[in-house]
Amino acid sequence: MTWLLPDAVLTPTGLEEGLAVQIVDDRIAQVRPFSVGDEAERLRGKLLLPGFVNAHSHAFQRALRGHVQHGTADGRDSFWTWREAMYGLAETLNPDAVERIATLAFREMLAAGYTTVGEFHYLHHQPNGDPYDDPEELSLRIVSAARVAGIRLVLLYVAYARAGHGLAPNPRQRRFIHPSSDAVLAAVERLRAIGARTGFDVGLAPHSVRACPADWLRDFSTYKGIIHAHVDEQPAEVQASLAEYGRRPVEVYAEAGILSPRFSAVHLTHPDDREIDLFARHGGSVVACPTTELDLGDGFLPIQRLDGRVPVCIGSDSHASIDPFAELRAIEWHARALSGHRNVVQPAACSDPADGLAVRLLQMGSQNGAKALGVDTGTLEPGRFADIIAVDASRLEFAHARLLPAIVFNGSPAAVSDVWVGGRRVKTSVRR
Ligand SMILES: [Zn+2]
Repeated sequence: MTWLLPDAVLTPTGLEEGLAVQIVDDRIAQVRPFSVGDEAERLRGKLLLPGFVNAHSHAFQRALRGHVQHGTADGRDSFWTWREAMYGLAETLNPDAVERIATLAFREMLAAGYTTVGEFHYLHHQPNGDPYDDPEELSLRIVSAARVAGIRLVLLYVAYARAGHGLAPNPRQRRFIHPSSDAVLAAVERLRAIGARTGFDVGLAPHSVRACPADWLRDFSTYKGIIHAHVDEQPAEVQASLAEYGRRPVEVYAEAGILSPRFSAVHLTHPDDREIDLFARHGGSVVACPTTELDLGDGFLPIQRLDGRVPVCIGSDSHASIDPFAELRAIEWHARALSGHRNVVQPAACSDPADGLAVRLLQMGSQNGAKALGVDTGTLEPGRFADIIAVDASRLEFAHARLLPAIVFNGSPAAVSDVWVGGRRVKTSVRR
């Protein structure tokens, strides 16, 4: 049992001073006013927040950092030329390299304040497409990396059937592809059994309407766990969906019967109003990855059309940047740049209206992500997993500032001083 006594705690309604947090085993047992005589670890100058939830990650892409920031010779660099560089990397990685890069990515996430990651994992097979002796070798390397780093893992096991409608098989995608939807579901069930014994969660992730045909999506509609998929990331993907089905991607997912409160759409950068209506009616979540969407030229989250209708959470996706503060303020700043207005995202109902926008964005960073991944974390309330971060409010960038908005608009991984996952303090380091 541990008591933590910071300067203030972020509760669902705002910052509260004088509270202490009690951790028993891996859960928060109490959050209550500190009594003289309680034995607590005093966290002077620090604020406790729920750990951030990274709802969309491709850990191996961390190895691309800095290597894809120069143009192609014809000056027409795009998402699709970036994808060729990413495939080039994916072809070269052996299991040890997958584990090593994932461990690095997960350590960097923890240092930045992410305590849970949803790893959208599609690197399944050997470079020639044959399964490994243990077909789940690479998934288990991701599990091992998460355990070594100390981050809570939801393994989003990706289904990938084809290059796209009417396209010849792409040899660079051989490591991703399964022979059937049944093979995907069988792998997910095997991993769920392992996860139940060893402490990680598993979700199903049809890669996209480009990579999964409608009959696969229909086969996945009976799956009872969480489902994540890339949706409307690039205009070309929407055009391909219209060409194949005469329907846009959200309509294809809806007709296949897999939209539900357990479904999360990753990106949703190019939806039309009909798709947003349809999506909102079924109650799913949207995972925004603004720093990656900027880096890849994907476009902007249409937050003003989604706000109040669909819960939004964040992911660091390609890891061009691993910084939850940057993701959160980008959601608001993009909306300002696009609309010409300020304070666009609807504020949360909270004890002080001046903190409403910050609380709302921080909720996107934690509790909305927890909902999207189906994990019992995301708020500092009794009964939840004790996934907690401390932010050092004594830093220069917070001097004379209103703290909670300054944390969102001026915070950075450097301000995260302490991290607990399941009640265990994780050693974080900014050194390699
Ligand atoms: Zn992605």
